[in-house]
Amino acid sequence: MIRGAPRPVKPGGMINLTSAYQIGIFERASRLVLPRCLLCDEADEAPGVCHTCAALLQRPVASRLEPGLRVIAAFTYRFPLDHLVHRFKFSADMACGRWLAASLAAVVRDHPPPDILLPAPSSARRLRERGFDTALLLARWVGERTQCPVEQRALVKRRHTPPQTSLAREARERNLTGAFACVRSLEGLRVAVVDDVVTTGATHRALAACAREAGAREVVAWAVAMTPAPG
Ligand SMILES: [Zn+2]
Repeated sequence: MIRGAPRPVKPGGMINLTSAYQIGIFERASRLVLPRCLLCDEADEAPGVCHTCAALLQRPVASRLEPGLRVIAAFTYRFPLDHLVHRFKFSADMACGRWLAASLAAVVRDHPPPDILLPAPSSARRLRERGFDTALLLARWVGERTQCPVEQRALVKRRHTPPQTSLAREARERNLTGAFACVRSLEGLRVAVVDDVVTTGATHRALAACAREAGAREVVAWAVAMTPAPG
């Protein structure tokens, strides 16, 4: 039985975890209880996902090579991993977020380190709805574990766009035209754009194009999960 299945988000019903102070309170409280598996809720030796549940999580067979962009992901985005992502994004479950970030950090350690991590930006409207910045938290947590600095204000989202998952593949590309910008020089830097889930890769191709325009010499996408390759 998977606990904490995602529920529809009610307007105004979200816990607002915008400050480090509030996040600190949440994390100190969570450490007072014995470690339990995030998926099956059985007591476990360490925080995270138990061995039995971990065996259910699929790893991508290889990093997918999008046109012009390499995506490195820790997991394939499907049951039951999707529950952990939903609980982090829509229920502000920081224990899930930290475990997902630790899993991503463990995978990217096998690859050449970038000079800088850039969280995939969200629109101001999305941040207000959610109450916190999922990509920024993931980037910080992964950065702590990989010793990579995080530049949180380089990539920006200029306007709100409908959720990519609601659109057909071609419409996703159109939806993002002019939606992103890079507002600082990335001259000569190798950068990794950090996000929770990569679907078609349209968002990350657009972000990579912005980073290259700003001078980045190499761009890679780091994601907690990516959808299974078509076919
Ligand atoms: Zn378990």
